[in-house]
Amino acid sequence: MKAFKPHLQGLPSYPYQKVEAAIKLDQNESPYDLPPELKQTILERLEHLELNRYPTLHAEDVREKLSAHLDWPVEGLVVSPGSNLLIQALVQAAGRVLDTAPSFPHYAFSARISATPYQAIRLGEGFELPMEALLEALQANPAVLFLPNPHAPTARLFAVGEIRRLADQAAQTGGLLVIDEAYHQFSGTDFASLARANPHVALLRTFSKAWGLGGIRAGYLMASPEVCNVIQNFVPPFGLPAHTAQILLAVLESPGYVQGIVQALRAERERLYQALQKHPTWTVYQSQTNFFLIRTPDAAAAYRALLQKGILVRRQDHYPGLEGCIRVSVGTPQENQRFLEAAFSLAEVSHA
Ligand SMILES: *Cc1c(COP(=O)(O)O)cnc(C)c1O
Repeated sequence: MKAFKPHLQGLPSYPYQKVEAAIKLDQNESPYDLPPELKQTILERLEHLELNRYPTLHAEDVREKLSAHLDWPVEGLVVSPGSNLLIQALVQAAGRVLDTAPSFPHYAFSARISATPYQAIRLGEGFELPMEALLEALQANPAVLFLPNPHAPTARLFAVGEIRRLADQAAQTGGLLVIDEAYHQFSGTDFASLARANPHVALLRTFSKAWGLGGIRAGYLMASPEVCNVIQNFVPPFGLPAHTAQILLAVLESPGYVQGIVQALRAERERLYQALQKHPTWTVYQSQTNFFLIRTPDAAAAYRALLQKGILVRRQDHYPGLEGCIRVSVGTPQENQRFLEAAFSLAEVSHA
């Protein structure tokens, strides 16, 4: 296809393959759908929605409600169908992208499709932030630095002091630190005050994880009005579907259920961590998210053996530094129990 830009030739597709399994622990989704009363409220709202009408231009209705929920100015919000689209927008707008490695793959993928200069810096052996290299890279040229915190796929949380230093450096050189807070409810952290004080810090949030709304596609950017004005242009006009907007308005009116989900998943995370410590051949890394990164002797073998027992996890061994690693979402107590049983029976097999 010669009509397309040359850099798009031979592009790899997003690394995901749909596989059927009874227990789905491969996408870090919430294992819980919305409470039935809330779902009923949503169905009633959708019944009255005029599907022939366009939604609001820039999700003004949702931004208004979100602004009150977050205590954050409405001019500092961009809402889009999934935060992945905001990642793409930020990368398209960026003159240069900095990333950590391993990291959430959509930063690198977005740079690839938009031919944006991209540099990834390896995390340390224990997944520490490579502070000196990051500060140096930020200083060399203004850049947009993507930092998931808690980090994906390692599940670790970085020190506040380190993030502040990166933010200060971004401010000095006119760069932008984008903290991707996809999992922040599970760590109990929130960098809104840093973003409020420093316009060179932006936050990405999603409804796909703790809110239990992966199916409706919704995420948002919290940033300075200046950053939002630019990024809003990359989200097509009338870009947030009317049905997604109605669901968001409903959950923002009754957000209480999220806390219960987060508490349940955090308790299960602790239980899983304690249990997995005793695994004879696996190393489990501490998690501040709703998933675990686990190093096994052979990721392909672990993946296959778990799938045979009806449990779907995600291989991570294609990342540099993550040899043998798999990623497992925290599910319901029953799902987690089945996972633990499978994990330990697999250990017996490999010992035999
Ligand atoms: C899951 C996840 C997202 C969410 O993307 P959506 O498009 O909003 O579903 C963003 N960033 C990271 C690091 C994630 O793990």
